[in-house]
Amino acid sequence: MKFMLSKAPKTKKIALVAHDHMKPVLSRWCKKHHDNLKHQELFATGTTANVIAHETGLKVEPLLSGPLGGDQQIGARIAQQQLDVLIFFWDPLESMPHDPDVKALLRIAAVWNIPVACNPSSADYLLTSPMLTEQYEYRVPDYEAYQQSRE
Ligand code: PGA
Repeated sequence: MKFMLSKAPKTKKIALVAHDHMKPVLSRWCKKHHDNLKHQELFATGTTANVIAHETGLKVEPLLSGPLGGDQQIGARIAQQQLDVLIFFWDPLESMPHDPDVKALLRIAAVWNIPVACNPSSADYLLTSPMLTEQYEYRVPDYEAYQQSRE
């Protein structure tokens, strides 16, 4: 696989996803970082978006609910380089009907080399990084080279 450089803008597009038992955890985390998050563009799976918007007042663009395809919508946006950061509080103590989507989302975030936090401590580190508010250059798959290599 060949790679190329991509640039994440100063204002980041952040995807938020939390499984049901983790929604209060994500909500608390969003309140803690409210002043920072209000300057970013937020997206979330359906129920997560409702909870965060209602409990924190932050503006969040809702996608479909996770089990109905919201995780996959987020994965598609990552592959299209339309999201810069993934905050994904998946539940380590419960299995989900859409566990394959969870794995797929984590996989595609790794493929496209975007920062991912799966618990509040990692998310604290990520959100307070100076890179969050700067333009950030990072390696992504070179899709054109990939296509040419397959012709
Ligand atoms: P939800 O989806 O925000 O619609 O609950 C989250 C998930 O389970 O992936």
